[in-house]
Amino acid sequence: MKVGVLKETTPGERRVALVPETVVRLRGTGLDVLVQSGAGDRAWFADSAYAEAGAGIVSLDELLSEAGIVVGISRPDEPVIAALRAGQALVGLLNPLADPAFAAALAARGVIAISLDGLPRTLPRAQGMDALTSQANVAGYKAALVGAGAFGRFFPLLITAAGTARPAKVLVLGTGVAGLQAIATARRLGAVVSAYDVRPQTKTEVESLGATFIELTSVGPAAGEGGYARALTEDERQAQQAELTGHIARHDVVITTAQVPGRRPPLLVTEDAIKAMAAGSVIVDMGAGPLGGNAAGSVPDTETVTENGVTVIGAGTLAASVPTAASNAFARNVTALLMLLVNDGELAIDLSDEIQAGVVITHDGAVVQAATAALIENPTGGTAQ
Ligand code: NAD
Repeated sequence: MKVGVLKETTPGERRVALVPETVVRLRGTGLDVLVQSGAGDRAWFADSAYAEAGAGIVSLDELLSEAGIVVGISRPDEPVIAALRAGQALVGLLNPLADPAFAAALAARGVIAISLDGLPRTLPRAQGMDALTSQANVAGYKAALVGAGAFGRFFPLLITAAGTARPAKVLVLGTGVAGLQAIATARRLGAVVSAYDVRPQTKTEVESLGATFIELTSVGPAAGEGGYARALTEDERQAQQAELTGHIARHDVVITTAQVPGRRPPLLVTEDAIKAMAAGSVIVDMGAGPLGGNAAGSVPDTETVTENGVTVIGAGTLAASVPTAASNAFARNVTALLMLLVNDGELAIDLSDEIQAGVVITHDGAVVQAATAALIENPTGGTAQ
């Protein structure tokens, strides 16, 4: 069977789903690899490097007609989707919970949709396939750099002949994978870092990185299923926003990373909180996306400055801006997944396997992944905050 690597078309997307190193590994398992010409260019992987690794360099049309498995980073554009045929597999971060109708349409056409975001992430043998973690890690690192870049002062304490600069005070809201990497990076740059999460079990990890964990008195623990946070009630949300406002005002740079699976990102930094911040402060909102973000008024992929001089950066797609590291990691995740799904060079889907039951969204003409099927059944179940 042939695996085809798409050239991404989303604006700003510079990653590629497989890199030359992983082509060699996949060929070792009996798969052939086709790469759409130019697919790796923006992550600095040239067609010639893929060819040296044994891949065929092809046009999009050739790829779509010859590949049994089509891989990309996220959901491809409409012409690619329209060209997929029955029995062909599409692999990527397809985010079916955000658009279950898309999954239903692929199922109706007999396309096998395989989405890395369905992985049961706490399962030890799934770790090598965990693209959400690998990409969040890259994004968290970049968030600290973006914050430092937009801030008008230094992150570290600097003692020079021209005077002493006090270190920046950075606050990280949401301490999952991205948040912890943002803390670690801001600390390496010398900032004084505080952090908060509704899952108090992250406190130990936060402290092990040399940051201070902020505990709110008005909101109790809100751990949900699978290691994620649960959505807060309206009362909890208001209490949390009000109590966070005081902490936010005392910080120079706020990096927000909070997510709740299948739901709109929670609003943590309200308009009032932004008004209470000093001019020159920076907010890097990693939750910013089409449904909203963690900070009031943040616009995806846009930097805005409020009337009181706070820079608000909508930064929901930062992994794409560190394309080589992000592609290397993503490619290893996809390769590990394909090694599980492919037997003797052919797709061998086994839905009794816990990992496959999580990632295989559509199969044999039906939506088979439980969470997506449940959302199709009950469409109002997942979009509220
Ligand atoms: P995520 O991207 O879903 O969310 C980021 C963080 O936001 C989470 O820590 C969450 O608790 C927090 N959050 C949500 N709502 C909030 C609110 N209202 N206020 C403050 N914080 C809020 O999380 P993630 O980084 O994908 O990680 C999710 C979980 O998966 C974590 O428990 C992580 O340790 C776990 N995980 C485990 C493994 C593994 O076991 N191999 C791998 C990856 C992740």
